[in-house]
Amino acid sequence: MENVLKKITNYKWELPKTYKKGMKVPAYFYINRELMDILERDAVEQAANVATMPGIQYASLVMPDVHVGYGFPIGGVAGFDAEEGVVSPGGVGFDINCGVRVLRSNLTVDEVRPKIKELIDELFVAVPSGVGSEGRLRVTDDELDEIFVKGAEWAVRNGFGTKEDLKHCEENGCLEGGRGDVVSKKAKNRGKPQLGTLGSGNHFLEVQYVEKIYNEEAAKVMGLEEGMVTVMIHCGSRGLGHQVCTDSLEVLNRAVRKYHISLPDKQLACAPIKSREGEDYFAGMAASANYAWANRQIITHWTRETFEKIFGSDLGMDLIYDVAHNIAKFEEHYVNGEKMKLCIHRKGATRAFGRNSKELPEDYTKIGQPVLIPGSMGTASYILLGTEKAMKETFGSTCHGSGRVMSRAMAKRKLRGSRVKDELARKGIYVRATHGAILAEEAPQAYKLSDVVVDVVHNAGISLLVARLRPIGVAKG
Ligand code: 5GP
Ligand code: MN
Ligand code: MN
Repeated sequence: MENVLKKITNYKWELPKTYKKGMKVPAYFYINRELMDILERDAVEQAANVATMPGIQYASLVMPDVHVGYGFPIGGVAGFDAEEGVVSPGGVGFDINCGVRVLRSNLTVDEVRPKIKELIDELFVAVPSGVGSEGRLRVTDDELDEIFVKGAEWAVRNGFGTKEDLKHCEENGCLEGGRGDVVSKKAKNRGKPQLGTLGSGNHFLEVQYVEKIYNEEAAKVMGLEEGMVTVMIHCGSRGLGHQVCTDSLEVLNRAVRKYHISLPDKQLACAPIKSREGEDYFAGMAASANYAWANRQIITHWTRETFEKIFGSDLGMDLIYDVAHNIAKFEEHYVNGEKMKLCIHRKGATRAFGRNSKELPEDYTKIGQPVLIPGSMGTASYILLGTEKAMKETFGSTCHGSGRVMSRAMAKRKLRGSRVKDELARKGIYVRATHGAILAEEAPQAYKLSDVVVDVVHNAGISLLVARLRPIGVAKG
């Protein structure tokens, strides 16, 4: 890849807009040499394709956890002019508002480790998981319509968590503009029984501890100390979001022809933001995002209940933060010194707003937004902070995980679930999954090393290290 990418720094490379006909802007890759060696040619093509789309501003951006996705690469960020630009489901992903949250606690790793098996087994029951799993809740059509508009607030109002939790969610757990009337009956029927479920595979509920603090001041604001137990929850909008995405692709494929949009790849199906088709997709996407926030909020409540059952009350399980990593949103950013309203697509990328951003809750305005980066069930996860540099260079965005190096199919061919489980046990990590194949598909070896990915974003300055988290127990979907 080195022959097409031009080095800007050790952590930032440019794909010039001369690379491909139709590119309106360059692409910037936040990677180092080590990641360059495993960068897929097709992911580079995808980043270049995104740069040809109508209304794209500044650059097509690629994070170090990049791999090939549907249309847009995973780890991709793009901002489109809110007036003249497009909105594209491929830039959001099938799991709309897949995201991560982290809870702190007053417990230490020494207190929790002896009970980790019991804890994970209980969490596994309290939070249903697996493909098509159904939850402990049954919501009505009216309730679902309200969730589409209110997001996590609906869950809090119905007894799942506290108002304080909402302040510590991106967008306060509610993306404006969600509408139920554009969500198909099929999507609703998939979503109704799945509220309060984790889903399968890559989704998880993980008990971890703080292994290392890099930034004392920020850690203090977040209530983190070395040795402290934390819980990371990763899930999204389940079958509902997936169906909304699938439904929208049909409509937007027609819109591409109707509005005479020329695209290098059919998977980039999109519509003008200001068209009926674009507006309807956005409303359905926002409704799904809100469902996902309610979902993570409900799961949080059951997680706290389970901890209390085993460890008693007053555990201080505050929500540190909740981030979306598959979403499109209207935001204001500076482009060539001029303030612009953009529709920012983050697909396998995390918002990373710097200090003093008005979008942040009061306690974080002085330090910047917490950024939550899962690693794998056997490697470290990280908490970082958004930066002013990210505001300038990446529309306030950073990576979202470590990213795959092996496809699921390849991981299943190469690895055995039972072996993976034993290896993790030797490292002091207890995992529970719905079936063995998941453990092979999700083995630490199937992912890049989180340490390397996080090192790139830290050194590039688009987010800064605060804490390293080590898993001790994982409930996998
Ligand atoms: P995605 O949303 O793209 O499926 O996954 C986000 C990231 O989660 C992956 O890139 C991977 O780094 C991370 N991940 C997947 N499984 C686990 C797990 O069991 N535990 C942790 N901590 N991270 C995981
Ligand atoms: Mn995800
Ligand atoms: Mn997901």
